[in-house]
Amino acid sequence: MEKKEEYKDLINEMQKNGYTKAEHTISKAKTMILGTLVGVAATAILMLLYRPLLLNKFPDFELNIPLFVIATIGSIVIHELLHGLVWSLFCKNGWSSIKITWSAFMPSCHCKEPLTTGKYLLGVIAPFVILGIGTSFITFFVTDLMVIFIAAINVIIAGGDLLIAFSLLKAKNRMIIDHPTDPGFVAFQK
Ligand SMILES: [Zn+2]
Repeated sequence: MEKKEEYKDLINEMQKNGYTKAEHTISKAKTMILGTLVGVAATAILMLLYRPLLLNKFPDFELNIPLFVIATIGSIVIHELLHGLVWSLFCKNGWSSIKITWSAFMPSCHCKEPLTTGKYLLGVIAPFVILGIGTSFITFFVTDLMVIFIAAINVIIAGGDLLIAFSLLKAKNRMIIDHPTDPGFVAFQK
């Protein structure tokens, strides 16, 4: 079944069970722009923290571009897989409830099962925590321009997820269904 139809069926079922819904989606363009801004702001904070350490051992400004491109693509794919992996841990049907789709060469991850706000949030922020904060942490030990760039990329890619995480704060104690096409979710409340 198409994921949109499955999503509609699920919404009907939730409403039959007495839930009311509230949509919290953001347009793709807005997510891209605001997400990048949030990511850049987070990167700027990281760089400010990093600067005192950077002063003595400034890395060579030589960047292996092909390697950087490969690392960026790898980061995007791992990012989506991490959303799916964490959500699948909370799904009754595990990984079969996770759908990774490709459009315009960009992967995106969708969870078909309703999850509590907390569980959904963990899946939303997993790539930011593991890849964004994880690689940022490495920059404090490995003074290499490539590592700094990869850390920055991973924080920027997670910018949209941070926006979604903020709107989840307004949807505490709900049942959350991931939106199948737009960035965001639908919150259900009895
Ligand atoms: Zn994401």
